[in-house]
Amino acid sequence: MPGSGIGFAVLEVIVFALATALFIYSCWMKIKLLGQGQPEVIKRWDQIPKRIMLLVNEVIGHRKHFRDWYAGPMHLFIFYGFMILFLSIVNFFWEGLGITPEVWEKIRLGVIGKYVSGSALPFTEGFLWYHLLMDTFFVLVLVALGMAFFRRLILRPERMELTSEALLILTLISGVIITDVMIEGAKIVKEGAFPGAYFGQLMAIIWEKVGVKSEHDAEIAYAISWWLHAGILLGFLNYLPISKHTHILTAAPNVFMQSSEPKGAIPPIPNLEERESWGAHTIPELSWKALLDGLTCQECGRCQEQCPAYNTKKPLSPKKIHLDIKHLLSEEGLLPKDKERVPIISEKWTTPEEVWSCTTCRACMTECPVGNEHIPKIIEYRRYLTLMEGNIPGEAQLTLQNLEKNSNPWGVGFDQRGNWAEGLDVPVYADGAQAAFCYFVGRDVSFADS
Ligand code: SF4
Ligand code: SF4
Repeated sequence: MPGSGIGFAVLEVIVFALATALFIYSCWMKIKLLGQGQPEVIKRWDQIPKRIMLLVNEVIGHRKHFRDWYAGPMHLFIFYGFMILFLSIVNFFWEGLGITPEVWEKIRLGVIGKYVSGSALPFTEGFLWYHLLMDTFFVLVLVALGMAFFRRLILRPERMELTSEALLILTLISGVIITDVMIEGAKIVKEGAFPGAYFGQLMAIIWEKVGVKSEHDAEIAYAISWWLHAGILLGFLNYLPISKHTHILTAAPNVFMQSSEPKGAIPPIPNLEERESWGAHTIPELSWKALLDGLTCQECGRCQEQCPAYNTKKPLSPKKIHLDIKHLLSEEGLLPKDKERVPIISEKWTTPEEVWSCTTCRACMTECPVGNEHIPKIIEYRRYLTLMEGNIPGEAQLTLQNLEKNSNPWGVGFDQRGNWAEGLDVPVYADGAQAAFCYFVGRDVSFADS
């Protein structure tokens, strides 16, 4: 028990209920933030089997993470560690309530007490498989966290920034694991060894070394560890939706809802005839999926590392495109529809130079492990700049003028289109020639010098 008697059980229920309610409220507020975005123009819920396979590959299999030999296993251990330690969390909560078989008996539900003991889910606590699995994941997650700290603090890859928030998240995860081991160690001091609990056994030795030897000491050590664990776990849970690390919650749905359109397909402009504005230059003009992408960006910088524009020193980072959305969305929050919004295409956020530097090569989207879609946003920004502001780069302006005046982007006079046929004895319809077949010579061939 993390204290004693029914009072602590009630306190536990109140603390967990409040923390869970706060977590649900924060998530709901995030969903409302996303609701400010435009409806999606492409399908996000079709081809369910294909989407499930995406989840299996990208989330469960960590396929894209494994392109980086260091980050791949590191991320995998933390991810699976949390999945598996969920069992331990359920036991931890249950154990805190201290509902023993006698209590079940008292409330005339003794039959449940036979299967659900006072401290754990059936077939878990005291079973070899359970302790072996938990302790192994305690170790793997701690190793992965060590690697993560080492990478952020020592290796410092260019694609990642060292932020206090990232360090706080790593510290909180470490705290969750360490306090869980402390709980197991204190129980071992009190009740004796559990089969397979080798890491807990080590912790029990540490407890004994610091003077926790008697049953009473072990109970105090247990209670302290239990409440520390509860505090860090619930703090972590509630920090996630309000932090910039929301991807822990949103990555899986974001991967699931990736575009199923052919690669390179450009999203159409809905209601083209009736629209009064085109493209996007504020948060509510982006689609809800674009906003979800922003929230989901885990700031790993994989897209930036592969971006030819970034690598040739153009003023574009595909990572920043998403961070700008994430930060402006958090900064503005939920605003009434008629409230004037901060333009995201501006010197403070994403500049027109960044928008026009993209080659639309798609390397960023191929690399992103959470399914973010960079190009559709860049296209929306370009639509805004072109159709609303007439703001296009000089080269593009000339190209468009050439297309308009001469039907080719190079500015070759349109009257020279037929020059290629000179001296080739080609019958020309315009001269009244008759033929069974027509060979349409395309633009590039018609205007090419040769
Ligand atoms: S599509 Fe644009 S942003 Fe993405 S990698 Fe290519 S150039 Fe960079
Ligand atoms: S957009 Fe994707 S690849 Fe780029 S930094 Fe964000 S999560 Fe990483």
